[in-house]
Amino acid sequence: MLDQLKAASLSEASKFFIVANFGIFVGSVALCWSLGWLFQSRRIFDRWEPLRPIEIFAALGSIFFNAGISVFGWWLWNSDFITLKTGGMISGIYDCLAMLLFMDFGMYVLHRFVHLPSIFNLFHRFHHRHETTNPISLFVLHPVEIIGFGLLMIVFLALYRMSVGGLMGYLALNVLWGTLGHSGVEPFPGKFRSILGLSLLGTSTFHAEHHEHPRFNFGFYTLLWDKIFGTLDPEYDSRFLRDSDQVVAPISGTGKESGWSEDRFTRTDSKKGADHPAGSGSFTGFPGSQ
Ligand SMILES: [Zn+2]
Ligand SMILES: [Zn+2]
Repeated sequence: MLDQLKAASLSEASKFFIVANFGIFVGSVALCWSLGWLFQSRRIFDRWEPLRPIEIFAALGSIFFNAGISVFGWWLWNSDFITLKTGGMISGIYDCLAMLLFMDFGMYVLHRFVHLPSIFNLFHRFHHRHETTNPISLFVLHPVEIIGFGLLMIVFLALYRMSVGGLMGYLALNVLWGTLGHSGVEPFPGKFRSILGLSLLGTSTFHAEHHEHPRFNFGFYTLLWDKIFGTLDPEYDSRFLRDSDQVVAPISGTGKESGWSEDRFTRTDSKKGADHPAGSGSFTGFPGSQ
C-alpha cells in the first residue's frame, strides 16, 4: 500500500487523498451522531448548533483543503524531505506520543495567536460561529486554519523520522479527539479527574467550554498548556464532573439538580462582548434567539 502510494502519479495521489479525507469526514460525522445518541444523559449543551448552508459548504470544502495539504506532504515524502520508517509497536507508541505532545503545544500557540483581537476576525471567527457545537463543527474552519494545522504536522514530520504506525495512530487520535470535542456530550467518566495522567486529557467538556467562553481552554489533546499558561477555565473541574454525571448537586448559583443548567447557556450581550474578542455581534445564539 505504502509502496503503491509512493509510486502513484500526482493525479492518483490527489484522488486517493480526496477519497481518504471524505471517508474521515463521513466517519467523524457518523461518530459524532452516535456519541450524541449514546450519551444523551451526559449532554453538555441542551442542543446542537443548527446546520447552516454556508457551514455545510465550508465543511465539505475542508475535505479538499485537507486533501491538498496531504498531497503536499506526499510530495515532500516522495522528494525525501520527509522520511518515514517502519517499526514495532513500542516505537509506534513512542512516536505517536511525541507527535501528540509537539502538536498539542504547537496548536495551543497557534490557537492563542488566532484569538488575538486583530487576527480573530480574519480567520478563527468562522469556527466560533458555533457557540454550541454540532457534528460538522470540527470541519467548519477557515482554509488558512486548515493549512496552518497541516503545515505544523509537516514541520514535525520534516524534523522527526516518524514510524508509519505512529503516524497512523496520531491521525486516528486527532480525528477522534476533534470529534469528541465537538460532540456536545461528555463520554469520559468523572473518575478520570482523580487519575494522574488521565486528568490531563482534553475532554469534550474542555473544548465545549472554549466554544462557550473563547477566552479559556486553547489546548486540544491535553489541558497541560492551559494549566501552565493559566488559561484553563476556573470552572472546568466542576463543569466536567457535572457533565459526566458524577455530581448530582448543582454548581453554586446555577439552577438544576443535575446535568446542565439553563443560565450557563444564556448569553447576555455584555457577556458575549467580554468573551469574544470580535465583539461578536454576529455570533449565533441558541436556536430561536438568532
Ligand atoms: Zn471547536
Ligand atoms: Zn478558538
